[in-house]
Amino acid sequence: MKKDNIFTNIITKKIKVDLLYQDELVTAFYDLNPQAPVHVLIVPNILIPTVNHITTNDEIILGRLFVVAAKIAKRKNIHASGYRLIVNCNHHSGQEIYHLHMHLLGGKPLGPLLQQE
Ligand code: AMP
Repeated sequence: MKKDNIFTNIITKKIKVDLLYQDELVTAFYDLNPQAPVHVLIVPNILIPTVNHITTNDEIILGRLFVVAAKIAKRKNIHASGYRLIVNCNHHSGQEIYHLHMHLLGGKPLGPLLQQE
C-alpha cells in the first residue's frame, strides 16, 4: 500500500496549507474545493485508507475526529445553526482520497442528505 498521499504531505507539512488544528492524533485544514461556507477536513495523522481498514486500536483517534469537529464548529460559530459530518468509503460514496477523513460542512442549510435522482 502506498505510504503517502496528499493528506500525509499536508500532515507532515511537506505541503504547506493553513492548518486549523493539529495534535498528536489528528489534523484539520480547509477543503480545497469547498462545498459550503465552512468545509473543513479532519484527518487522522496515521494512514487509515478507508473505514474498512479501521481496527479497535484506532478508537481513540476516531473519537478525536469528533472532538475536534465539535471544537472547530464552535470556533466557526456554526455549532448552534448546525452542520454535517461526512466520512466517505470507497467508490459508491465518491471517496477520492484514500486517507480516511471527516468532512465538516456548515454555514448554510445543507439540503437533503442524498442527492435526489
Ligand atoms: P472524498 O471525496 O471524501 O475523498 O474527499 C476528498 C476531499 O479532499 C475533496 O472534498 C477535495 O476537495 C479535497 N482535497 C483534495 N486535495 C486537497 C488538498 N490538497 N487540500 C485540501 N483538500 C483537498
